[in-house]
Amino acid sequence: MPRYDLHSHSTASDGLLAPSALIARAIEQRVDVLALTDHDDTDGLGEAQRAAQGSSLTLVNGVEISTTWRSHTVHVVGLHVDPANDALTAALAHVREGRDARAHRIAASLAQAGVPRAYEGARKYVTSDRLISRAHFARFLVEAGYGRSTQDVFKRYLGEGKPGYVAHAWAAIGDAVSWIHAAGGQAVLAHPARYRVTATGMRKLLGEFKDAGGDAIEVHSASHTFAQAEEFARHARVFAFLASAGSDYHGPGESWLELGAVAELPSWLEPVWSRW
Ligand code: AMP
Ligand code: MN
Ligand code: MN
Ligand code: MN
Repeated sequence: MPRYDLHSHSTASDGLLAPSALIARAIEQRVDVLALTDHDDTDGLGEAQRAAQGSSLTLVNGVEISTTWRSHTVHVVGLHVDPANDALTAALAHVREGRDARAHRIAASLAQAGVPRAYEGARKYVTSDRLISRAHFARFLVEAGYGRSTQDVFKRYLGEGKPGYVAHAWAAIGDAVSWIHAAGGQAVLAHPARYRVTATGMRKLLGEFKDAGGDAIEVHSASHTFAQAEEFARHARVFAFLASAGSDYHGPGESWLELGAVAELPSWLEPVWSRW
């Protein structure tokens, strides 16, 4: 069985490794098929494809689009998207546009909570001038001594309901699915267990994602416990979704799972790669 990891990040968004370094590490970890799925951007894919060329690794062109569904931030991964598709690149540019103003609002809110100059602090960790994310704020907060780890500062400062959390209107979930399809890709609901919705809310989300044309859901993710993976395996069957699996790797020392360290999908599910 080839080893698949269909969710990862590079310095083109908020990962710690440059696309070529990510590919080298994935090869080291004996990943056979890796998807690079940077937040709201496909800018790292060119370098990643060049690095994968002639190696044992197949790189899948991916992206992770930020959407808002009923006041919840929901991430939709696109797999096998064409990065040269104009509709997709224009849409992603539009999604990214709001990020800088949002970062200023996050910093203002943190200042009120006693954390000064967070925008400047986070900027030092930004690796693509196209995009700033809460992960950059998290790295600054850890450096400045506001917590022990990025997870810790999310709990205290950056997570929903905390001082550094500001509401933001991302793309509509149906639009994200349409852009991915227009670019020839498959739309995958990322880390579904992470969304803080009730059981009824989750069925609504899955139903609406299905109706919008969503193709798959992540069953295995670093954000999922074994019990949650089982739960979403059942959801995949009930809603007739293909199943995906990815580490959501962000870099050494910062991720729960190593690249490629994703469990095998249950044999009774159809994997998202079955028709590749
Ligand atoms: P943003 O798209 O700017 O809201 O940032 C989201 C990113 O923040 C995620 O992709 C992760 O990189 C990071 N993140 C979110 N929640 C957590 C958490 N609980 N622990 C560590 N990193 C997190
Ligand atoms: Mn991230
Ligand atoms: Mn995500
Ligand atoms: Mn991700």
